[in-house]
Amino acid sequence: MVFYLNFWGLPNLFAQSQDSLKTIVAEKGDGIYKILRENGYIAKDYYHAFKELNIDKIKDEDQLILGETYYLPAIFSEILEENIEDDTTSIKPSGFTYADTIISNKLDGAIIYLISGHGGPDPGAVANVNGIMISEDEYAYDICLRMAKAIEENGGKAYMIIEDPDDGIRDEEYLQIDYDEYCYPDLEIPREQNARLKQRADAVNDLYKTHKSTDYQRVIEIHLDSRSNSATVDVFFYHYPGSTKGKKTAEVFQNIFSEKYAKHQPNRGYKGSVTNRNLLVMRKVLPPLVFIELGNIQNEKDRKRFLKWSNRQAIANWLVEGLIRDFSE
Ligand SMILES: [Zn+2]
Repeated sequence: MVFYLNFWGLPNLFAQSQDSLKTIVAEKGDGIYKILRENGYIAKDYYHAFKELNIDKIKDEDQLILGETYYLPAIFSEILEENIEDDTTSIKPSGFTYADTIISNKLDGAIIYLISGHGGPDPGAVANVNGIMISEDEYAYDICLRMAKAIEENGGKAYMIIEDPDDGIRDEEYLQIDYDEYCYPDLEIPREQNARLKQRADAVNDLYKTHKSTDYQRVIEIHLDSRSNSATVDVFFYHYPGSTKGKKTAEVFQNIFSEKYAKHQPNRGYKGSVTNRNLLVMRKVLPPLVFIELGNIQNEKDRKRFLKWSNRQAIANWLVEGLIRDFSE
């Protein structure tokens, strides 16, 4: 899980503001971290933004070219003020459902909390695809929304813990980055990472307490920023150490993905894994949680898995198929 603060990443913003960005000329001994630090940035938060912004002027191993002019990234808070629309938050009316019709009762009695990674002021990992900026949070959100619909079509109850007031399921390849997601039921998402993670865990736990009598409750968190972005990475399923239920659900997902790849892409060689991880959200949430890294949006090959809507739908269907299998066992 990587948290980048690449807020310069809006396509329109990028075009508008490149002229207004401050520049600096690299001197002897300058490196990315040094330049950022000397200009008042928290270097680790702006390192990726700096690289993306100056990508054609950075040599291997992140060497700068002496005498070359480099853009400095816009500061996070300046961009937020320019771009965040206010008053868009809307609470889903009670009785709101994600499905128009119920086609089976296979998940009748199951409650699934869907957390799409990042959101609000944090777009997650970003990538520049042929000049178009895309971000992890929008794709994770779209997959979660497709899952919510499929869960409810099968008689289950889905909660989107991260919600966007105006984005429904989107079939475009390039999903527009925005910053108006909020946390269930109507909470502004804080910028600070720990506060942000605690907020979503609290949202799950409050709902969990109102559904105490429901046996099968699961939290699914979706990310597209697995740590390695150089090689093609398969799907990683993480559960909290010692959570037997979380582990079992993760293993069912893993089996489903193996079966699907064996059927649809037999020569591909699927190398997903189930391991445990001790992450803040996992420590805090009460129901068993499976944290899923579907790949890395910054990796060109992985990205193909997410850009096509039909692939996003397939991933959502497979995960819901996994929930159905897990629930029935
Ligand atoms: Zn992520």
